[in-house]
Amino acid sequence: METVRLGKTEIVTNRNGFGALPIQRISDEEAVSLICRAYDQGMTFFDTARFYTDSEHKLGLALKKVRDKVFIASKTAAVTRAAFWQDLETTLGNLQTDYLDIYQFHNPEFCPKPGDESGVYECMLEAKEQGKIRHIGITNHRLGIAEEAIESGLYETLQFPFCYLATPEEIRMVSRCQEADMGFIAMKALSGGLITNSAAAYAFVAQYENVLPIWGVQQAAELEEFLSYIENPPMMTKALQTIIDEDRDSLAGNFCRGCGYCLPCPVGIEINNCARMSLLLRRSPSELQLTEAVQEKMSKIENCIHCGQCVKKCPYHLDTPELLARNLQDYKEVLAGKAL
Ligand code: SF4
Ligand code: SF4
Repeated sequence: METVRLGKTEIVTNRNGFGALPIQRISDEEAVSLICRAYDQGMTFFDTARFYTDSEHKLGLALKKVRDKVFIASKTAAVTRAAFWQDLETTLGNLQTDYLDIYQFHNPEFCPKPGDESGVYECMLEAKEQGKIRHIGITNHRLGIAEEAIESGLYETLQFPFCYLATPEEIRMVSRCQEADMGFIAMKALSGGLITNSAAAYAFVAQYENVLPIWGVQQAAELEEFLSYIENPPMMTKALQTIIDEDRDSLAGNFCRGCGYCLPCPVGIEINNCARMSLLLRRSPSELQLTEAVQEKMSKIENCIHCGQCVKKCPYHLDTPELLARNLQDYKEVLAGKAL
């Protein structure tokens, strides 16, 4: 079994963390059964967020009896003191606990620091003093803010997208975290569904000893795949490296990661899926993407008013309207019979 030490938090956990975003889409009963199975088989790190609707509630139902044997991280998007305390109290209530192991600022547009006008960093310190949180973390999709957080020395963990499609700058950030003795929690280790070989994904991140991937799981079969990595962690082999190299070639350049930070769109375009439809068609069962419901979503791209809001919010600086138009064109051609 491989473990990861999350820097100065001294949290040591199995290298397979549980990402609790997708459990929003399943019932309480299904979620509890999935989480209990994960815990029974050796997962001890669970990551959620106030923003993930009922995810915290479901984790609370499943983990309340084993609270002292697991690590729970949650997040707040609060930018005022009042919102911070409201979020924290709601989160603790939902999770049926009186403390969080890590409380993270959820993808803020600035790096919270003591003395800034939001006052939220001071709230973190106060919550720590009160014993309501044990460690302070930050999540982000922007390199600049992540770097500022590392340099500030104010954070014990950084959560950032990290997978084998990472750029050299992103890979450098992993070592910078290690130098600063900060835990690195990897979100989107499957790049939002674009990486389909989880063994290759695992073997890549496992090369970095301070990286903890949190796998977003919604179905029992997905969970079993990651549970099998507890006993038999995939090692990097020539065959896996070939898969990675091929994926890197085919996904090179600017592609939509599906993070959804550009939402909402004023005309209701589901950008996080529509802007990567060509990839989804070719990397997952295409029939799932050709249903009437998906066709309707794709047709909304025609309504784009080019307001530019999505471009401003995309942390990867994508020309989203252009990407959407290209994906729609390809989608129409596939519907008309173009071979995949
Ligand atoms: S530019 Fe188009 S896709 Fe982007 S937010 Fe505006 S309307 Fe939506
Ligand atoms: S366009 Fe950018 S912000 Fe929007 S989902 Fe894709 S990667 Fe994320």
